[in-house]
Amino acid sequence: SEQNDHQFDVVVVGGGPGGSTASTLMAMQGHRVLLLEKEEFPRYQIGESLLPSTVHGICKLLGVSEELEKAAFMPKRGGTFRWGSSPEPWTFSFSVSETFSGPTSLAYQVERMKFDQILLDNARSKGVEVREKSSVVDVIEEDGVIRGVRYADADGVRHEVRSRFVVDASGNKSRIHSKIGGTRHYSEFFQNIALFGYFEGGKRLPAPNSGNILCAAFDDGWFWYIPLTDELTSVGAVLRREALERVQGDKEKALMSLIDECPLIAEHLSEARRVESGPYGEIRIRKDYSYIQEKFWRPGMVLVGDAACFIDPVFSSGVHLATYSGLLAARSINSVLGGDFEEEKVFEEYEARYRNEYALFHDFLVAFYDMHRDEDSYFWTAKKVMNSSSSGLESFVELVGGGASRESGLVNAGSYAEQHESTFREFSDLVDEPAGETGADRDLFDSTLVQSVLEEGAKIQVHAALGEVLDDEEPIREGGLVPSADGMRWAHPSY
Ligand code: FAD
Repeated sequence: SEQNDHQFDVVVVGGGPGGSTASTLMAMQGHRVLLLEKEEFPRYQIGESLLPSTVHGICKLLGVSEELEKAAFMPKRGGTFRWGSSPEPWTFSFSVSETFSGPTSLAYQVERMKFDQILLDNARSKGVEVREKSSVVDVIEEDGVIRGVRYADADGVRHEVRSRFVVDASGNKSRIHSKIGGTRHYSEFFQNIALFGYFEGGKRLPAPNSGNILCAAFDDGWFWYIPLTDELTSVGAVLRREALERVQGDKEKALMSLIDECPLIAEHLSEARRVESGPYGEIRIRKDYSYIQEKFWRPGMVLVGDAACFIDPVFSSGVHLATYSGLLAARSINSVLGGDFEEEKVFEEYEARYRNEYALFHDFLVAFYDMHRDEDSYFWTAKKVMNSSSSGLESFVELVGGGASRESGLVNAGSYAEQHESTFREFSDLVDEPAGETGADRDLFDSTLVQSVLEEGAKIQVHAALGEVLDDEEPIREGGLVPSADGMRWAHPSY
């Protein structure tokens, strides 16, 4: 049997970070959003090391900062790498970049079962209709335009849902991404295989770096070592394609013998036990061939996160790219539904910005995989690919912290929130309670002339804060758009 659902403005496919971000930011603008997720949460997912741009940019916009604090995830100050020609490990901290100064320099290492649940629950509480155990099998196409999806619920009942837009955020295994047209281009360069598991009782780097991600290169590839809690560590080997035969056969034996070949990781795990039961008990394999879809959108449909592209995990850019593209897609769809711009205009902006961010990581990573260079040379490359005037180290940290675009939604989302709040507070206070302490002040404020000037002032300020662009936003290309002051839509640049 097949059931028809009523109309939604947007159907979002997939409840990972990309889908949760996009759906929440559209529901916050009052649009009717349905999110369909195949699994029942919490569900396991890899991708545990986050960047400051996600924690302090996107998560702030989504309004989950408090929930994240309550969850008490492992604080991550930066990364420690045994990588390249230097025999000794080197460490970077996000705080060396002005972009992530002060409290915004801390990211988290997260158990994705918990993190993704927080984002999905938040989507619900912001008005997104979420249906779990709902697997999307196809899109509905009419006259070349995507107009909804078909999905199967837990009982196998088929449903048809119609919508103005479909956002595919269903990850690397998306069943519908190819409906965009064009092909997925797999990278010639990054053709790696990951083998990973979990350990209890692994050692920690000395303070203050105990929450850092540790990455250690060895002959056949490199290891990640991510402290998730004081006890639990995520450990994975990323192998060159030529080492594929090493993961065929007993996975446990394979992982243990790879660990033995990487002294830094072996030492950290010398007193640890592998977790053998529960969601962390399995040793998993992912062939994370990096790819990018030829096109990111077509009329009625857009790809977000891994559904569009994925790049090698060494700099933990996956969740950053997924949530950033979620923001960009929401901004684009909000603009069309709000009547600001045509679909083509905003999706072109979407694709340009998402490709740009992806390309920065890609181009930098190609150089980073050259093991004959030292860290200073890597930093210099970061400066070059970003075309930045900052120092090499700062450019590197800005890039690997997710702040290369310098987008307010990523590095300074507080400015959006503050701009709303402080403008409203300041001016509504003035207008509602104009009386000062002294009689003279009171007289002044009581005059209707002053009242009306203040009210007009308030309106202009509020309009400036919400309707126009932040002064420092510049288009990334000629004729391009910039974020509106509240970050939720696109706008014309201010000049
Ligand atoms: P996902 O997180 O994959 O979410 C997609 C959702 O869609 C899932 O919940 C899925 O169940 C659902 N879905 C799938 N099909 C359907 C369907 N037909 N209908 C309905 N729902 C569907 N990233 C980092 O940031 N840090 C890291 O340290 C990191 N390490 C990584 C290590 C490895 C080995 C790999 C392979 C990746 C790593 N990543 C890392 C990348 C990260 O896993 C992804 O980039 C990120 O999860 C992408 O988010 P997403 O929302 O696009 O997709």
